[in-house]
Amino acid sequence: MGFNARYGHLPKTPPAWMANVGAMKRAGAVVAASCGNPRCRYSKAQIDFDQIIAAKGEDYSLWDRRPPCPVCREGRIVFLYAGGAHTPLRPARS
Ligand SMILES: [Zn+2]
Repeated sequence: MGFNARYGHLPKTPPAWMANVGAMKRAGAVVAASCGNPRCRYSKAQIDFDQIIAAKGEDYSLWDRRPPCPVCREGRIVFLYAGGAHTPLRPARS
């Protein structure tokens, strides 16, 4: 199944609060991370903004970013964000 078929219509640009990790932290954003490898179960309900800011700086953006999985090292991490309270998580990519 294609990406668009799976998730439907998605915004092409990140919401303002998601422009970078500093903005996400200040907004109290919930951002999950999940490995795209079906054989890997790695997922995190809330990523640690402080850890990313320490490593990459406040201006680092997660939008369209798919880093290698730290567990299986085969899959790529997909970041998922909540558009608001009680909304389903959406992938942070265009
Ligand atoms: Zn993995």
